[in-house]
Amino acid sequence: MEATVAITKADTLKPKPHPDELQFGKTFTDHMFTMQYTSEKGWIQPEIKPYAPVEIDPAAMVFHYSQSVFEGLKAYKDPEGNVVLFRPDENFKRLNRSNKRLSIPPVNEELVLDYLKQLLELEKDWIPTAEGTSLYIRPFIIATEPSLQVAPAHQYQFFIILSPVGSYYPEGIHPVSISVESHFTRAARGGTGTAKTGGNYSSGYNAQAKASNEGHAQVLWLDGVEKKYVEEVGSMNVFFKIDGEIITPELNDSILQGVTRKSVLDLLRYWEMPVSERKISMQEIYEAHQEGRLEEAFGSGTAAVISPIGELSWKDETMIINGRSTGDVTASLYQTLTSIQTGKQEDPFDWTVVVPT
Ligand SMILES: *Cc1c(COP(=O)(O)O)cnc(C)c1O
Repeated sequence: MEATVAITKADTLKPKPHPDELQFGKTFTDHMFTMQYTSEKGWIQPEIKPYAPVEIDPAAMVFHYSQSVFEGLKAYKDPEGNVVLFRPDENFKRLNRSNKRLSIPPVNEELVLDYLKQLLELEKDWIPTAEGTSLYIRPFIIATEPSLQVAPAHQYQFFIILSPVGSYYPEGIHPVSISVESHFTRAARGGTGTAKTGGNYSSGYNAQAKASNEGHAQVLWLDGVEKKYVEEVGSMNVFFKIDGEIITPELNDSILQGVTRKSVLDLLRYWEMPVSERKISMQEIYEAHQEGRLEEAFGSGTAAVISPIGELSWKDETMIINGRSTGDVTASLYQTLTSIQTGKQEDPFDWTVVVPT
């Protein structure tokens, strides 16, 4: 059964950008999905309508106390032209976990997925098909109640907007340089690190700027308590291959639970490779590198899928990993995940969801 949505189609459609000119999150499609929440009526007024600016009261609580959450996932076209999503149920589950942390009322996960499918049915011509391209999906919720009280809002708006995105690696997958951040932290114990909420990202800009100025692509974040243990890299989860074992920091309340992270772990276990989720310190990584046991390192996330790390700068030390080339496990993970996501390879896990169009 389809959830009922009021659909208003745009009078004129925008020209589609050339696949070579796509930047991340700069172009948006013709339509968007919105619904409203009031504490009396719950989530109401699901609508698909022309993509356009919205009018919001300057006192809307999101502007003052950042009560907001978001998600990020992608739609692809498989070789037969079907529209496919990758584990979307995981994203909507996480949206509700973020909602809970930010005192935002939960959404009905199945209903919201159905709304997304209806939006994609209308916007399917916006899904680029060139190698590495996709349609990025950004669901988000903001507190719209006009009030300066420091308390959860009684009114919210939920949106889904869509953006065609280019290949993360126009010149092919290649390892990047990462700087370990020893001063700033991304998330504190008991804080909001496990939620996808705006403030977690803007608070990382100054560390990112410092890393960029020093010629690094991203920051590696350490734990907020002892600044000893590895947590994440940029907006990605992180993995290290040491002595044949693939290690990723165990989840805690300052690490974002990535869908890609979970999929990487599932794949590695399916391949019967040794994996462990545990605390891992920079000192341990440094020693492994000194002893020639640090074999590979990579980040995982929806945007890049897998991002190999070729160089790690920590204090005054520079560690070159795998001679700055992409490791075998890193390359296999990238290849397999992207092939499953685009329907080019059999999906033994039933991760992909075909959108009826
Ligand atoms: C979104 C995100 C990730 C990756 O999650 P995916 O579900 O794999 O895209 C990792 N870390 C942070 C901080 C994130 O915001």
